[in-house]
Amino acid sequence: MSTQLIPSFLANIKQELLANADEIVLLDKTLGDGDHLANLERGLDALIKQQDELTLLDCSTAFMKIGMTLMSTMGGASGSLFGTFFLSLSKAAKNKELDFTNFADCFELAVESVKQRGKSDLGEKTMLDTLIPAAMSLKQSADNSKAYQDALDCLQQAAITGMESTKDMLATKGRASFLGERAIGHIDAGARTTQLIICTIAEQLKS
Ligand code: ADP
Ligand code: MG
Repeated sequence: MSTQLIPSFLANIKQELLANADEIVLLDKTLGDGDHLANLERGLDALIKQQDELTLLDCSTAFMKIGMTLMSTMGGASGSLFGTFFLSLSKAAKNKELDFTNFADCFELAVESVKQRGKSDLGEKTMLDTLIPAAMSLKQSADNSKAYQDALDCLQQAAITGMESTKDMLATKGRASFLGERAIGHIDAGARTTQLIICTIAEQLKS
């Protein structure tokens, strides 16, 4: 894994989020306060400003810088959760050669940190309903020595299925938890943006 890809990841993620902007804003307006996309864009724009610097760093150091930048610029519950994800990824990746198996292990640890930070788990209608299945998929692919392209296909499918699973859930964490039964029938905005980010990165790695 190399940090050289960071600028193209960021550009593609921004493009994909903006292409789905109306849907994302509507989801967070329905279940939250409608600022989720704006929070994410603020974080992304800050990362885009640092992108040349990020490509000069090793993966672990780049993940740390990304985490700190997201923490300090995004705001919202998602800012501290995405920030935590990258800080934990950085710690797990320190002094490691990031091959697929190692990355799957690091990703799993990072998702574990988000669970702790958010005091939440699978089935609570949050970004974790995308992140946890994605981590499980990566781990399974690594354990079964799946071919790279297959592993990326499975990762995308796991993220999509996880995101869609939030539609029928009651929310017990975050702002959506105040809505009770009224949250049912709507996908969680954080689950959707997390899925779009994962799928965009996977798509780029496939080509
Ligand atoms: P805020 O809720 O503070 O306005 P955002 O709108 O940026 O922050 O992000 C909302 C998203 O954050 C939700 O859609 C959900 O996916 C995620 N989220 C909120 N609280 C938690 C939590 N405790 N655990 C995991 N994810 C959470
Ligand atoms: Mg919000």
